[in-house]
Amino acid sequence: MGRCERCGSACEPEELRERGGQHLCEDCFLEVASEVKTCDPWAVHLAKSDKGRGAMTLTPLQERLYELVKSQGEISIPEACRQLGLEEAALRREFATLRHLELLRATKRGTEVHLTLF
Ligand SMILES: [Zn+2]
Repeated sequence: MGRCERCGSACEPEELRERGGQHLCEDCFLEVASEVKTCDPWAVHLAKSDKGRGAMTLTPLQERLYELVKSQGEISIPEACRQLGLEEAALRREFATLRHLELLRATKRGTEVHLTLF
């Protein structure tokens, strides 16, 4: 039986994934991976320079969100969730990455938050 080195939960050794020298369970692996994506200045810098070359390193989901906002001009978060079939938490996570890349931003419309192009 293996053990996640981050949260300490027990799991099958084949379910553990290595990241930064640590063996992590699926949940922690995803969490760490998304932290790197949104908070690592170097990763953001790399992504930005990619943008300049027209080769964005977006996930298919981020690309769909970006294309959706682009086609609508502006869209509320619940509407974007509905169109993409995403939970709000998941949508906000993808949005955070796109905001870091300066592709999308949020704007207040009364009590609603709308997503729009940066
Ligand atoms: Zn874990």
